Amino acid sequence: MLHLEEGQCGLCTHFGERHPAERHLVAIRKTHEAPETFVDECDHPKHMALHLMVTPASGCDGFMPVEHRGD
Ligand code: SF4
Repeated sequence: MLHLEEGQCGLCTHFGERHPAERHLVAIRKTHEAPETFVDECDHPKHMALHLMVTPASGCDGFMPVEHRGD
């Protein structure tokens, strides 16, 4: 398992943004840990058209903490 820190995709609101209730995403956000082989789509507006797939340990300057969803 990977331990996640603030700034990494697994804790970003855009990680799997179109299916936020998916059980793996819920677990990752709750525990801040993720399986090393897990990948999901980044739905940041600048990446969406590219269907960018990222790991929970990836990151970029578009990071938005998942707690801020809906702001
Ligand atoms: S690539 Fe950037 S915007 Fe996309 S999920 Fe990761 S941190 Fe968030």
